[in-house]
Amino acid sequence: MLDDYKGVQVKLEDTFGRRFNYLRLSITEMCNFRCNYCLPNGNDCDTAKDGMTVAEIQTLVQAFAAMGTTKIRITGGEPALRKDLTDIIAICKQTQGIQKVALTTNGFLLKRDIGKYQDAGLDAINVSADSLDPRMFAAITGKQKLKDILLGIDKAISAGIKDVKLNTVMLKQFNYAELGAFFDYLKQHPVTWRFIELMQTGDNQTFFADNHVPGNTIKSTLIDQGWQRIVRTKDAGPAQEFSHPDFKGNIGLIMPYSKDFCNACNRLRVSSQGKLHLCLFAEQGLNIRHLLTLGDVEQTCATIVTHLQDKKISHYLTDGFTGATKQLAMLGG
Ligand code: SAM
Ligand code: SF4
Repeated sequence: MLDDYKGVQVKLEDTFGRRFNYLRLSITEMCNFRCNYCLPNGNDCDTAKDGMTVAEIQTLVQAFAAMGTTKIRITGGEPALRKDLTDIIAICKQTQGIQKVALTTNGFLLKRDIGKYQDAGLDAINVSADSLDPRMFAAITGKQKLKDILLGIDKAISAGIKDVKLNTVMLKQFNYAELGAFFDYLKQHPVTWRFIELMQTGDNQTFFADNHVPGNTIKSTLIDQGWQRIVRTKDAGPAQEFSHPDFKGNIGLIMPYSKDFCNACNRLRVSSQGKLHLCLFAEQGLNIRHLLTLGDVEQTCATIVTHLQDKKISHYLTDGFTGATKQLAMLGG
């Protein structure tokens, strides 16, 4: 970690004493799925498509690592659409100080490419799996891909990726009735299934009103069925995790609408365009791409540290304020 930068102590800490050791790095806004809660019309978004180059990403990762970042999650859009994804994984993993490289993907190339990701140094993977029923999966994502994705997940487990998580956005009118089937899958599979509260974005307001399920409803079901809360480690993020002696897998709840969710915030985000975002639901990000293009690690550090002082105590989603995020494919969730 850099001890100082021109005499100033360099560490990623905000004015509320929260420390940031986790970078969510979006490498593209493009996606080949049409998830009804995210990009229901596919990629007709009006956003730019020229994502950061591998060299720009390298500068960014060196800067974050120099300031104590230990974990990077590569996300999108759909990161597997980039042909240089394995190079990006390798660059993150080879950067001094980075201990864990994770990927969030819709899994469409997982079956084919998990070996390459692993060889490049991938430690952990989150795969979006919004249903175990092929017809429901297609209704939510617009793709008939469930079988391949489940095979890819099995391959990731047998390849020895220790940290495999499945992500499901709970939707009242779609997959909520499947909760029992998701739990059953965990009897045999050593993965963590994470149920995410549907978040309101600029583009999904009616869908949100019709489909949001409060995570506490699922939490009550878990507790009634004997699932027990796993004690959080000091640097754990905001997810609440549960285990059960009869199940190989665990459950995670991501409840951004719950009180105190932001207290455990440990992450910063950079968009594929090279903008630093202090929160998923804040206003426009700060453009640092020119510094990345120059390869200027020190100035990148200084700019991030200064901007971090503007981070707010929480999001204001419960007041209906969704910031500049029109859909999460813009920033990677
Ligand atoms: N394409 C990849 C995928 O789907 O896993 C990575 C990007 S996607 C934006 C990252 C995560 O955000 C996914 O788990 C997705 O389910 C979640 N997500 C997208 N829109 C959301 C919303 N409105 N509310 C809650 N989660 C959302
Ligand atoms: Fe694409 Fe992921 Fe958004 Fe689905 S959730 S549309 S896979 S970016």
